[in-house]
Amino acid sequence: MGVGDGRAVKAADRAHVFHSWSAQGLIDPLPIAGAEGAYFWDYDGNRYLDFSSQLVNTNIGHQHPKVVAAIQEQAAKLCTIAPGFAVDVRSEAARLVAERTPGDLDKIFFTNGGAEAVENAVRMARLHTGRAKVLSAYRSYHGATATAINLTGDPRRWPSDTASAGVVHFWGPFLYRSAFHAETEEQECERALAHLEQTIAFEGPQSIAAIILETVPGTAGIMVPPAGYLAGVREICDRFGIVFILDEVMAGFGRTGTWFAADHFGVTPDLLTFAKGVNSGYVPLGGVAISAEIAATFDQRPYPGGLTYSGHPLACASAVATMNAMAEERIVENAAEIGERVIGPALHEIAERHPSVGEVRGMGVFWALDLVKNKETREPLVPYNASGAAGAPMAEFAAACKRGGLWPFVNMNRTHVVPACTITEAEAKEGLAALDEALSAADAHTV
Ligand code: PLP
Repeated sequence: MGVGDGRAVKAADRAHVFHSWSAQGLIDPLPIAGAEGAYFWDYDGNRYLDFSSQLVNTNIGHQHPKVVAAIQEQAAKLCTIAPGFAVDVRSEAARLVAERTPGDLDKIFFTNGGAEAVENAVRMARLHTGRAKVLSAYRSYHGATATAINLTGDPRRWPSDTASAGVVHFWGPFLYRSAFHAETEEQECERALAHLEQTIAFEGPQSIAAIILETVPGTAGIMVPPAGYLAGVREICDRFGIVFILDEVMAGFGRTGTWFAADHFGVTPDLLTFAKGVNSGYVPLGGVAISAEIAATFDQRPYPGGLTYSGHPLACASAVATMNAMAEERIVENAAEIGERVIGPALHEIAERHPSVGEVRGMGVFWALDLVKNKETREPLVPYNASGAAGAPMAEFAAACKRGGLWPFVNMNRTHVVPACTITEAEAKEGLAALDEALSAADAHTV
């Protein structure tokens, strides 16, 4: 097979690759020839501006030369070593993560990705408290392994639901589609906290090990929590001896314009999960940052969890190089600045022009457009459903983006504007112009 031949790549894919979340007979994967910075391209000369950062993970863009070099150097030095050894890149990656996480989250357990981080955080919380139940939000995504998919609120959970998982869902704050009939952010915050307290009372506080929340829910719609909500959850957790887990797999490492989204809210969880942006996914890596108190639970008692590739040297080398490059090149600052000065204002302007844009929300390079049939009724452009972006209006909108050279992130009735944290003003404007044009395809479905 010629590696330069897109048709051969696709033929082998269709013959042998079993794809995630897909009906295998209905997909048509685009063969990719290469990528650099904010762009990737196919074998037919079509180049796409990546407004999705793949799965919201390439925070430093594609093929960052310092990270590529670090992986190459590490490969020449030591490709793999078991997790039980102390090794320079693993120690340094853990130190750099711990230096950035809030409060006393100073011990790092490495995993291969986000779902494993969530699995292990929940295991730690259950062992630390001796309790079983975990509370999570309906509007959430926490990963696709057994516990993580049960914690997930979105419909991808339904086929994998098990009654015995000990998971209870609740409503987080989301004023635009308030579950509490609230009219202001203050009301939404107050009522969401009261609802959480009541859920805890009815589940039995003594049976609840943890509450897990995405600091800013990502896949579920980028709902920045109102001021005081996360501090309120922290206080409730403290009152009932419940472990507070913040899932920063998507929101962490620059995405919201700070190293961690928790930095915006001045809240320190007991456990913080991360993955994606820690090394932009150049080599699979995730982890749990652990508080001193929970880490001490396992000082004399063995932690009953592990992975062959925990703290893999190639992954850790890429994480060290990524965090250093992000600091040297002020990549987190760029995300904050471009978000506030360019992307946010442009999206609000776009919303005024397009009848299909119901709400714009976000921060940094983490924005959502909530697409609606009608701005008054706020009826979603496609209904909440089990197949994500299914539905002609969203498919037509995505196709229009691609025709305009833009690769969008689409989930249900939303498109998310989630480019790399390295995006330049010119690139952001190019993408926003393409988005503006493509939204006419969504406007055509408004009533
Ligand atoms: N948690 C959050 C908040 C996520 O966004 C994701 C993935 O999108 C995960 C966990 C799961 O991560 P992974 O796909 O690396 O297992």
